[in-house]
Amino acid sequence: MATPASDSFDVVVIGAGPAGVIAALRAARLGARTALLSRDKFGGMAAGDGPVPVRTLAHAARLVREARQMPRYGDASVSYPALLDRVRDVTGEVRRQSLLRADLEQAGVSVREQVGPARFIDEATVEHDGGHRLTAGRFVLCTGGAPRRLPLPGIELTVPHSAAWAMTSPPASMLVLGTRATGVQVASIFAALGTRVTLVDVGPRILHTEDHAVAVAVHAGLEAAGIEVVVDSGPVERFDKGPEGVRMTCRSPAGPLTLDAAVAVVAAGWVADTHSLALDQAGVELAVSPRRRPPPAPARLGLSGTLGLSRGSRRSRRSRRCRGSGSPAVRRRRAARRR
Ligand SMILES: Cc1cc2nc3c(=O)[nH]c(=O)nc-3n(C[C@H](O)[C@H](O)[C@H](O)COP(=O)(O)OP(=O)(O)OC[C@H]3O[C@@H](n4cnc5c(N)ncnc54)[C@H](O)[C@@H]3O)c2cc1C
Repeated sequence: MATPASDSFDVVVIGAGPAGVIAALRAARLGARTALLSRDKFGGMAAGDGPVPVRTLAHAARLVREARQMPRYGDASVSYPALLDRVRDVTGEVRRQSLLRADLEQAGVSVREQVGPARFIDEATVEHDGGHRLTAGRFVLCTGGAPRRLPLPGIELTVPHSAAWAMTSPPASMLVLGTRATGVQVASIFAALGTRVTLVDVGPRILHTEDHAVAVAVHAGLEAAGIEVVVDSGPVERFDKGPEGVRMTCRSPAGPLTLDAAVAVVAAGWVADTHSLALDQAGVELAVSPRRRPPPAPARLGLSGTLGLSRGSRRSRRSRRCRGSGSPAVRRRRAARRR
C-alpha cells in the first residue's frame, strides 16, 4: 500500500473560522511555517450560517416590516427564492473579499479549505480527505461549535437554525425552542416573512444572559410583531408528528403543554465541534467544563469552541498562553513586552 503524502509544519491550525484565521496569521507572522486546514469553506460559521447570512435575512425582514405600509402607496413583496439567492451572493462575496485571506497568503500560510474533517493519527500528525497527512510540533484547534442536540424522543423531527435558512419557502408555522440570540433572530426573521411563530423557553424569561430590561423590551417587541412568546413552558418531554407537522410536548407546572407547528427549530446552545478530530489518538481527554474542572495533563483544552493543543507539558503551557490565559504576573510581563 502506498504511504500517504505528508507535509511538515511548525504549526497546523484546524478550522478556518474567525478564530483559526487569526491564529494562523499570528503564527505565520511570528515566523512559524503554518498550515490552515478547514473541513468546509473559508470563513467558518460566521460566513456560512451565522452572522453574515443572518444579517442579510434580518435586513430583508426589516424591509418587509417597512413594506407593510406599502398598500397605502402601491404594492411590495419579497420573493423568498430571490432572498436566498441574495444570501448566497452576500456570503460568497464576503468570503472572496476577506482581506484576511490575502493577509494569510502574504504571510505564507498554506491554506487548505474544503478538505473534509481533519483527524489525528497521533500527537504529531493529522490526516484529511484523500489520506493526506500533515505533521507539526503544535496544533491549534479552532473547530468552533455545533448546535446542541437535545437527547429527547423525536428530536430527529426538529431542525437546527442553519436548516431554517436553507428552506425553500417560509413555512406556515414555526416553533422555535431556545430564546438566546440565535432563537430570537430566527423567530423575528420568519415572523416578518409571514410565518406564524411561537418562541419557547423552558425558563421564566427570554434572553436570559442579557440585562433584564433588554429582555423585557425585546419580549414586548416580539409580541408586537405577532410572535407568540411562551416562557416557563417547563421541561420539553418529546417531539412527535402532529397535525401541522411537529408537536412539542412540555411538562409545564400547569400540566402537559402541547405546541404544534409545521417546523420546529431547536436553538438550544452549542457544543464544541470535536467529534471528528479523533483527539484520543493525540492522547487528549476532553473535560466537560474547563471553567469548573481543569482537564487532565498533558493536553489542556477549553470546550467553548476554540481549542488549543500542543505536545508535552511545556508545550501545553504555550498552548494555554495562546488562549490568553496565564497568571497575572505572566500577563503583565507579556503586556510590557508588547509595549
Ligand atoms: C445565527 C448566528 C448569528 C451570529 N451572530 C454573531 C454576531 O453578530 N457577532 C458575533 O461576534 N458572533 C456571532 N455569531 C457567532 C459566530 O458565528 C461564532 O462565534 C464564530 O463563527 C466562531 O468562530 P470560530 O472560528 O471559533 O468557529 P467557526 O466559525 O464555527 O469555524 C470553525 C471551522 O472549523 C472547521 N472544522 C470543524 N471541524 C473540523 C475538522 N475536524 N477538520 C477541519 N476543519 C474543521 C469548520 O469547517 C469551520 O470552518 C453568530 C452565530 C450564529 C449561529
